[in-house]
Amino acid sequence: MAKTYDVELHSIRKTFGSNVVVDNFDLQIEQGECISFLGPSGCGKTTTLNMIAGFLDPDQGELIIKGKRMNGVAANKRDLGMVFQTYSLFPHMTVANNVAYGLKLRKVPKAEIQSRVRRVLELVKLPHVADRYPKQLSGGQRQRIAIARALVTEPSLLLLDEPLSNLDAKLREELRDELKRLHQETGVTTIFVTHDQEEALYLSDRIVVLDHGKVEQIGTPWDIYNEPASEFVHTFIGKSNRMQGKVTGIQGTRLALSAGDAGGAFELQASPRGSSFAAGQRVSIYIRPEKLMLAPDGESASGSRYACAQGRVRQLSFLGAFVECEVAVGSESLTVRVQSAAQQGRLETGQAVTVCWNPDDVFVFPGKER
Ligand code: ATP
Repeated sequence: MAKTYDVELHSIRKTFGSNVVVDNFDLQIEQGECISFLGPSGCGKTTTLNMIAGFLDPDQGELIIKGKRMNGVAANKRDLGMVFQTYSLFPHMTVANNVAYGLKLRKVPKAEIQSRVRRVLELVKLPHVADRYPKQLSGGQRQRIAIARALVTEPSLLLLDEPLSNLDAKLREELRDELKRLHQETGVTTIFVTHDQEEALYLSDRIVVLDHGKVEQIGTPWDIYNEPASEFVHTFIGKSNRMQGKVTGIQGTRLALSAGDAGGAFELQASPRGSSFAAGQRVSIYIRPEKLMLAPDGESASGSRYACAQGRVRQLSFLGAFVECEVAVGSESLTVRVQSAAQQGRLETGQAVTVCWNPDDVFVFPGKER
């Protein structure tokens, strides 16, 4: 039997004047999935969400929610819950009345409204603020109430547009946990817009990475981080060391590369997936800080699958669980992230070290000049 989806976007396109803001967007969302739209400012995340919400209509393409074509259908006929960046609660209404609002519009009986409001306030762990006004709540509490208001109608789809971005770092983390728990408990299909990669990795079943209105990749957090489809995706998600280089040899799937300036070039090997390369081709080479290992000078990581280069520690930065070491290797400076406990007292600035890596962990993309 053919698979059914809660939300389907087929070749969606949206322009503002001559500006193509969303182009050829295809996506199918399964029931109960939490999907993030992730990308830099202006890449079209909110515009796409607004088309799904019914605040904007696509110029081209088809939008289907629960099997029904939604192009041209008003927002209030789409059975959605929505939470915005700003809290958007009615200031003159109590929390209970704010949460009850959507149910009153739907003419739900009074007793049922009361029990549903109570239940959803318990779900967001704020039953004790029912009689307060929004101005008597903290930012985090207001956003929890906005989420409760979106959930109380038991929508088939929950749309969240950067709901955490007005909160301070600690509260953001708390509410992120809260959203994950709420998604697990309610099972509501959710689309979450964010430019924060950590939030997207943490919350999503799948992430849609967008750049300039185009889908760069759709995948699980693991895929997006470990199997990026493009240089943009690799550099947008997580930290990475970038080096300019050249292909010096090819043996099967293994590339020999020369990285860095002519005066300080060093050799390395990589086993990139995907693209094919030609000898002499200029490339951009990336390796994540946590994929590099340090061994005392003269030693190397055991096992023939590792490649190594000699370097010197330039700078050490203590980050609690990790130490970030800047290591000069040839003309390049590589950031190596090591566990603090393992390195305690073993590393110092100026020390000669061997940097080792697994060639499978090196990403190579066709070169662009710096
Ligand atoms: P951010 O993270 O900053 O919110 P975003 O990825 O959500 O960005 P959008 O808000 O979707 O991006 O905007 C995408 C592009 O469309 C931007 O260049 C923006 O200036 C433009 N844009 C959005 N809404 C309109 C509008 N109503 N009229 C004209 N241009 C618009």
